[in-house]
Amino acid sequence: MMIPVAKPIIGAEEIESVRTVMESGMLAQGKQVKLFEEQFAEFIGVKHAVAVVNGTVALDLALKALGINAGDEVIVPAFTFIATANSVLFQGAKPVFVDVDQRTFTLDIEDVEKKISNKTRAIIPVHLFGQAADMKALSEVVDGKKISIIEDCAQAHGEKFDGRRVGSFDIGSFSFYPTKNMTTGEGGMITTNDETVAKRAKLLRDHGQSEKYLHTEVGYNYRLTDIGAAIGIAQLKKLNGWNDVRRKNAEYLNNGIKAGGIIKPYKANYSEHVYHQYVIRITSECRLSRDQFKQELEKLGIGTGVHYPISVHHQPVYKNLGYGNEKHIVSEIVAKEVLSLPVHPSLSEKELSFIATGVSDIAGGK
Ligand SMILES: *Cc1c(COP(=O)(O)O)cnc(C)c1O
Repeated sequence: MMIPVAKPIIGAEEIESVRTVMESGMLAQGKQVKLFEEQFAEFIGVKHAVAVVNGTVALDLALKALGINAGDEVIVPAFTFIATANSVLFQGAKPVFVDVDQRTFTLDIEDVEKKISNKTRAIIPVHLFGQAADMKALSEVVDGKKISIIEDCAQAHGEKFDGRRVGSFDIGSFSFYPTKNMTTGEGGMITTNDETVAKRAKLLRDHGQSEKYLHTEVGYNYRLTDIGAAIGIAQLKKLNGWNDVRRKNAEYLNNGIKAGGIIKPYKANYSEHVYHQYVIRITSECRLSRDQFKQELEKLGIGTGVHYPISVHHQPVYKNLGYGNEKHIVSEIVAKEVLSLPVHPSLSEKELSFIATGVSDIAGGK
């Protein structure tokens, strides 16, 4: 038996909602999508939410809605899931990498300041592992400049920065992939108070169709299904409760893990943290390397993940684009040290205790 590092929770309500949609015969984008958008917008605290087929597409449409183009620069962290940076390449624009803060794994704001040029059109902070980037510092950096902020909230549904939900600052982008804090199978959402951005995103998601069979620009089919939306509506009701359990589980691990050479997750004062992942760092002071540590945990039946083993500027696809020689020291170090432990809401206290003891024992050489 392996304790999985992530696990979607699908209950009777999700199954019943899907059954109802299936029996209605209306499977594609329709009433359920509209309802999901309304409820999600209200939850985040914005005027508009636009549902799409996944989180990668949400980032893509957010950039397209802003008219980001060849010649433009968009600032992204070097340490994130690759889709964040790729969404910029989709526009023919240039991703400009910045390093991350070694405690929060989110954008290093001083580095952002250095990398802003007269070509910078947008910045994509990633609320990595469920913790918000420093949105106040970031807002100050872009103050008075024509630079949009697209929050990559794919790992931070429900997270708050100083009491305000992430995804409500300018433009938010969410993913509902099964391992995320809530799921629709595959799915994504754009959130914003900017009506122009929302309208343009809706147009582009549906063939550039301003009215039926009247196409005013080249659009796509990026629509979410009513089946997915029905799952999302059921999941959204439970999100806050699940995030509470994730926080409790993280606290249990914080208290239970007693080990040298390991850095436990840091929580910034401004953050509530929704612990999409519980990420420890296996530093050079630990008796084992990160990869050996991972193997030992797996022998015990504890599933782990490495998010992410290679920083984006070192990925072959980016090296081939000429990014290989850049230095982003923190990103490069943490990519070698991070290890995600299970923290999802389905864990029992017995499993949490087993994880905490396992980690402590392995680090101590027992
Ligand atoms: C999951 C994820 C995405 C992409 O979302 P998909 O729905 O898988 O396309 C983008 N950015 C980050 C940080 C993610 O974790």
